[in-house]
Amino acid sequence: MAALADIVAFLDAELRTSEIPDYPAAMNGLQLANRGDVSHVAAAVDFSATVVHEAVTRGASMLILHHGMFWADATPIVGPRYHRLSLLFENDVAVYASHLPLDLHPRFGNNVLLAQELGLTPSGGFASSQGMVIGVSGSSDILTAEAVELGLDTLIVGEGPHHTAVQAPDLGITILYAGHYATETLGVKALVAEVATRFGIASSFIEAPTGL
Ligand SMILES: [Zn+2]
Repeated sequence: MAALADIVAFLDAELRTSEIPDYPAAMNGLQLANRGDVSHVAAAVDFSATVVHEAVTRGASMLILHHGMFWADATPIVGPRYHRLSLLFENDVAVYASHLPLDLHPRFGNNVLLAQELGLTPSGGFASSQGMVIGVSGSSDILTAEAVELGLDTLIVGEGPHHTAVQAPDLGITILYAGHYATETLGVKALVAEVATRFGIASSFIEAPTGL
């Protein structure tokens, strides 16, 4: 059993949660508390009814997500949103989210881990956002111009707008659309394994592919 507060303090420091800029609504960090104890931490890419049900079935008391619960301004807690939240409250499940701080992390980041899986050695940063070099793993529309500028011949992204596939051959770039979901499973899996080892608690990854 570990204290939620200790796990959150570790994650906030390791991921530099308060320092990394993100979309205003991404709200990185602890998004929902529980009563304070964690015996099983589960990870998933997205916040969905499937993921919440599975977390409850497994007896998880904390969920670590890449795409957290909040992406818009205040939204009424009704319908599916009410259902998901009530399940979390009833089963005492906390939720922690890490979006861009996890993408760019040098050890647990989606980008660095994807490079390792492919046998590549990172030589520098790529893709600027709000003054930070974030690398790219999910989706992006801004990349082809930067790739051309840097003289790159291959770009690996999660997904992209249709027109980027049309432009790529004209620009002399090969783009690999490796899957938004698939490329973003790496970070949360690594992170939850680290939390489990460090705090001596159970962990699991909830597979809920989107097909994209
Ligand atoms: Zn994403």
